[in-house]
Amino acid sequence: MSEKFQAVVIGGGPGGYVCAIRLSQLGLKTACIESRGSLGGTCLNVGCIPSKSLLNLSEEFHKVKNLSNKGIEVGEVKLNLEKMMKNKDKAVDVLTKGVEFLLKKNKVSYFKGLGSFKSKNEILIKDTNNQEKIIKTDNVIIATGSVPVSLPGIEFDEKIILSSTGALEIKDVPKKMIIVGGGYIGLEMGSVWSRLGAEVHVVEFLENITPGLDKEISQEFMKILKKQGIVFHMEHKVEKIKKSKSGAIVSTVDKEGKTNDLECDVVLISVGRKPNTEGLNLELVGIKLDERNRIKTDKKFKTNQKNIYAIGDVIDGPMLAHKAEDEGIAVAENIAGQSGHVNYDTIPGVIYTTPEVASIGKTEEELKKMNIEYKIGKFSFFANSRAKAIDDTEGFVKILADAKTDKVLGAHLIGPHAGELIAEIGVAMEFGASSEDIARTCHAHPTFSEAVKEAALSVDKRAIHS
Ligand code: FAD
Ligand code: NAD
Repeated sequence: MSEKFQAVVIGGGPGGYVCAIRLSQLGLKTACIESRGSLGGTCLNVGCIPSKSLLNLSEEFHKVKNLSNKGIEVGEVKLNLEKMMKNKDKAVDVLTKGVEFLLKKNKVSYFKGLGSFKSKNEILIKDTNNQEKIIKTDNVIIATGSVPVSLPGIEFDEKIILSSTGALEIKDVPKKMIIVGGGYIGLEMGSVWSRLGAEVHVVEFLENITPGLDKEISQEFMKILKKQGIVFHMEHKVEKIKKSKSGAIVSTVDKEGKTNDLECDVVLISVGRKPNTEGLNLELVGIKLDERNRIKTDKKFKTNQKNIYAIGDVIDGPMLAHKAEDEGIAVAENIAGQSGHVNYDTIPGVIYTTPEVASIGKTEEELKKMNIEYKIGKFSFFANSRAKAIDDTEGFVKILADAKTDKVLGAHLIGPHAGELIAEIGVAMEFGASSEDIARTCHAHPTFSEAVKEAALSVDKRAIHS
């Protein structure tokens, strides 16, 4: 007899495993199916965690090499890439095993294998030995995430033509690396390999890097990355990539139609990701997709079938781990009869380069488009005492508030610890705070967070330190 569950989650990424834990906390008999052999999804295995490990280690390497400028003499600094990669792998291993422990602790049944629909209430699981088993369920939550996309006619070989997964596994620092796409992955991985010694070129189709970010931040970001040695080919499109004896030749074309061939050892294609619905047998249960092949859901994450839900990268919205997690919690609460919801106006985005870039709420460009009158408060880290004390003064904080009500509508930061500083603004926005509320909140001295307070003061043109 098939085992019977109240809820089965397909996919053990940040959306899926968090959802499974919450369902179990709420008293539902829950199973989670994962095909990659370890839990944590893209994020823990080949995304957020390994990339942040390499970003941190490469930054440490870069910093130590430059310590003598700060009066600390060190001997010869050498890179041991193999050891660095092992450290990254250790972080992944510890965290993915940690998720397995959490599922056990929360009494979630974990099935290793590929899940697919046999019917609306039956899921077929095929393990790595091709052994099949069917489990029954009242509800199904699809959390199968996303996979990298390539350019038409170009296949990843993960040696010369890399996706983000290959860019996390390079064995020797390449002499020259071409990155197609100046988005999150291109700039984070470009920073890693540039700090470790590669000549990095970014080919970006649009006028600005990181489309969707506040334009002023994005322009400052590119200026800083250029100073760090990354070369940008803006408004260039990659047409062809041909493998050569020693690497690849990337052919670009600019907006005037002029072509250029760039030789390199490796090329990273980071032009976005696509929803992963392959192998689920969605047709059998008639699940509808949207125009970009994402699973279509309503506000409660329900698909067109009343017991089947979807969350995370496989549906609409930013492809971010914390967005997937929050949707996982919300859908679990909805299935259990509660009123789970996600506030899409306060989902932060962080790029973990040096300096970090963080953003929440509306950008100036969006407010203009929406005809909303706004005030701007800005404060530079150059005038922040903590930043000055440790000589880390690049970037600024920008707060956008409603011109009439002073309600905070968005905040955009580039600078030290921006990814942590943004949380304060997220909480403020959740409580419907005004910029004055932030400005009147006591912030410890000397901290980077004082730059947030000063930016809030500056909305009312009364910053103290600028
Ligand atoms: P996923 O994490 O993709 O998990 C889906 C899981 O489902 C996968 O493990 C897959 O194996 C499994 N699966 C698929 N089909 C089946 C099936 N039929 N049966 C069983 N299992 C199946 N986001 C951030 O917020 N911060 C970051 O710093 C960040 N860095 C990133 C860096 C890189 C290099 C990449 C590639 C992504 C990064 N992201 C980051 C994005 C983040 O990883 C995703 O948004 C997040 O993992 C989405 O979670 P998810 O649960 O929807 O899907
Ligand atoms: P992206 O959408 O962030 O950036 C893709 C870039 O490629 C865009 O700037 C686009 O204009 C450009 N592009 C597209 N086609 C091109 C072409 N033919 N030639 C040149 N440029 C081209 O995508 P990504 O960097 O692949 O990342 C995918 C997603 O993963 C991100 O959107 C993000 O949601 C997630 N992610 C998040 C983090 C983080 O939170 N720190 C880190 C990595 C990835």
